[in-house]
Amino acid sequence: MTRGRGTVYLVGAGPGDPGLITVRGREVLRMSEVIVYDRLVPPALLDEAPAWAERIPVGKHPRRHSTPQDAINAVLIDRAKSGFTVVRLKGGDPFVFGRGGEECEALRAAGVPCEVVPGITSAIAVPALAGIPVTDRRCASAFAVVTGHQCDDASAVDWDALARIPTLVVLMGFHAVAEIARRLVAHGLHPSTPAAVVSCGTMPGQRTVAGPLASIARLAHDAALAPPATLVVGDVVRLREILQDAGGGLPAVPTGIGVSR
Ligand code: SAH
Repeated sequence: MTRGRGTVYLVGAGPGDPGLITVRGREVLRMSEVIVYDRLVPPALLDEAPAWAERIPVGKHPRRHSTPQDAINAVLIDRAKSGFTVVRLKGGDPFVFGRGGEECEALRAAGVPCEVVPGITSAIAVPALAGIPVTDRRCASAFAVVTGHQCDDASAVDWDALARIPTLVVLMGFHAVAEIARRLVAHGLHPSTPAAVVSCGTMPGQRTVAGPLASIARLAHDAALAPPATLVVGDVVRLREILQDAGGGLPAVPTGIGVSR
């Protein structure tokens, strides 16, 4: 029997808790014949695919050797052209620092059908489950999601602009927290601006350290936090204490919120 051309589903796996994939994401996983997955994908999700499905890890690590993007594109195109239903499973949402756009482009150029299944991004879910809403009507009317990966390349990041945004969520910045904090302060943020590092968010090992921006790197280091980790900077971090004390409700914000910068 000859097989027709397969489809590639570009699926967001969510931030870590396997329950945080979408209904559509789980549905396509269950009908997959090949899964090409990233390092941060929850292992339990791989069990959703049929036992006989081919599982191809393409671990991407910012600081260690990882599968080159061209090789990932090539394997997706090869399996789809062989007629298989392929799931490309990525942590969080495929289009948030996931190179999902590039993969889509490569698939389209090769004539391979591609469906995107968005995911819950760690940029929002990780702070949320640490008790930190990324916006709040009273103190943060905007937020930005930034990569900390390029922070040593000063020209790639507009620090002046970032320092004016009420909430910053920094992904891939764990090893650069001290440098990021230093630059934000140099570009106008008050050293006492609330900040938090959330490690292994949404997972059983989740840990959060919060404190002033100027000390957050040392606090995270002293607490021996490890990646994956997300840095949140802004007054919304203060809500964490309130949300925890209140068991989830959002009571009145104490005076002082919104005046630290
Ligand atoms: N596409 C992904 C992000 C990829 S970048 C998404 O939408 O979530 C990977 C970065 O996300 C990590 O370096 C870390 O900063 C953050 N991250 C991913 N999972 C995390 C988790 N469970 N806890 C804390 N941070 C996480």
